[in-house]
Amino acid sequence: MMLPFEKALKIVLNSVGQLSTERVNITGAANRILAEDVKSDMDIPPFNKAAMDGFACRREDLANELTVVETIPAGMLPEGIIGPNQCAKIMTGSMVPQGADCVIMKEYVEAPTENTVRFVAEETAENICLKGEDIKAGDIVLRKGTLLRPQHIAVLASVGDTQPSVATRPRVGVIATGDELVEPTLKPGVSQIRNSNSFQLVAQVENMGAVAANYGVVKDTTDAIDRVFKKAFEQEDVVIVSGGVSVGDYDIVKGMLKENDVKLLFEKVAVKPGRPMVFGVSKKAFCFGLPGNPVSTFVMFELLVKPFLYRMMGHNFKPVVSYRQLEKTLTRKKMERDSWLPVVFTKNDKVAKIEYHGSAHINALCEADGLLCVPAGVGEIKEGTSVAVRQI
Ligand code: AMP
Ligand code: MG
Repeated sequence: MMLPFEKALKIVLNSVGQLSTERVNITGAANRILAEDVKSDMDIPPFNKAAMDGFACRREDLANELTVVETIPAGMLPEGIIGPNQCAKIMTGSMVPQGADCVIMKEYVEAPTENTVRFVAEETAENICLKGEDIKAGDIVLRKGTLLRPQHIAVLASVGDTQPSVATRPRVGVIATGDELVEPTLKPGVSQIRNSNSFQLVAQVENMGAVAANYGVVKDTTDAIDRVFKKAFEQEDVVIVSGGVSVGDYDIVKGMLKENDVKLLFEKVAVKPGRPMVFGVSKKAFCFGLPGNPVSTFVMFELLVKPFLYRMMGHNFKPVVSYRQLEKTLTRKKMERDSWLPVVFTKNDKVAKIEYHGSAHINALCEADGLLCVPAGVGEIKEGTSVAVRQI
C-alpha cells in the first residue's frame, strides 16, 4: 500500500522521543537544541538606561536653560539627583540618574555657556529603556526544544547561562548500496557512476547538527549488506541506506532489514520523487531506506528524515516556506502522489519551474530556490495562484 505523506510523517514522528541530554559550552551551542527552559536571573535592562547620547533632565524643564551637573559614562553610577533646571550629560547605555524622566539627544541642544545647554527641537521622546521592560528576573526567556540560533546564543549570554543543557546529537550511519557505484575519487568505468548520495546525506545530516558516519559503498549482495548492517546497527542511533529498496532483481535491502530484526513500518509513500521509501525500527536503531536516485534521496531526507532527527533532539521542525504567485499554469495527468518540483523565484518575484529531467537530475536542485509541492489529487495549479515554496 502507498501511504499518504502526512501518515508517513506521523508514523516517523511517533516512533521516537528525545534522546539524552548534555551540557555544552555556550561557544559551541549554536545549532544545538535546548533541552530545558531557560530563566533569567535578572531584569533586563537591569536599570533605567539611556537610549541616546545626550542630556538627562526633567521633561517639565525642557523650555529652560539647563545646568550640566555631571557626566555619566556607561558602566558608572550617577553621583546625584537631577533637580529643577538641571541635567546630566549621559551616554547611550548609561544609568539614567534619579529625578530625570527623559534624555534629550545631543543633536537637539545648543550650549549657551560652557556648562549649560538648551533644548532646541519641538519635542522629544523619553529615550529611556525602562528597567525590566525586555525581561523580568525569573521570566522564561527560551523554551525547551528551541533550535539555538545566534540570537538565542545572545540571550543565553545575557542571562548568564554559559553551560546550556542541550539534546545529544543522534549518530547517523550512511550506507550506499549499488553494484554500479564507485567512490568519487575514482573515474567510473563505462557502466558505472560515482556515489554521490553518501556525501549528500552526510552533508544533510551534519547541516542539521547530527553526527554522520559514512559507511561507504556496499555491493548488492546479501553478505555485503548483512555485514554492514550488523556493524551500523550496533554503532548508530539511525541508519540511512540509499538504493536497493525498489522492485529490481537486486533490490534486497528490505529483505536484509527484516533478516536483522527490523520491523518495517511502511514501504511506499505517495511522494514523487521517493515512492519506494522504507522506514523501520529495531531494538538497536531506526532505519530509513531511501530510493537511490539522488533527487529522491535528497527530497526524502528533507521531508521525512530531517523532521525525525529533529524530533530525536526534542525539536519540532518546521520547514521555511515562502509564498509567491505561480508564473505559468502547471498541469499533470498522474495525480496519485504529492509531486515536488524544483522551482526558482523570477526577477518579477513569481515562481517558475526550471528544467528538470526527473529524480536523477541532481544538478537541477543546485539551480533551484526551493521545492514546490503539487499535492496528491491536484492536476492543475493556475497561473497567479499563491503557492508555497519550501526552502532547501
Ligand atoms: P536504486 O534505488 O538502487 O534502484 O537506484 C536508483 C538509481 O539511483 C540508479 O540509477 C542508481 O544508479 C542511482 N543511485 C543509487 N545509489 C546511488 C548513489 N549512492 N549515488 C548516486 N546515484 C545512485
Ligand atoms: Mg541499486
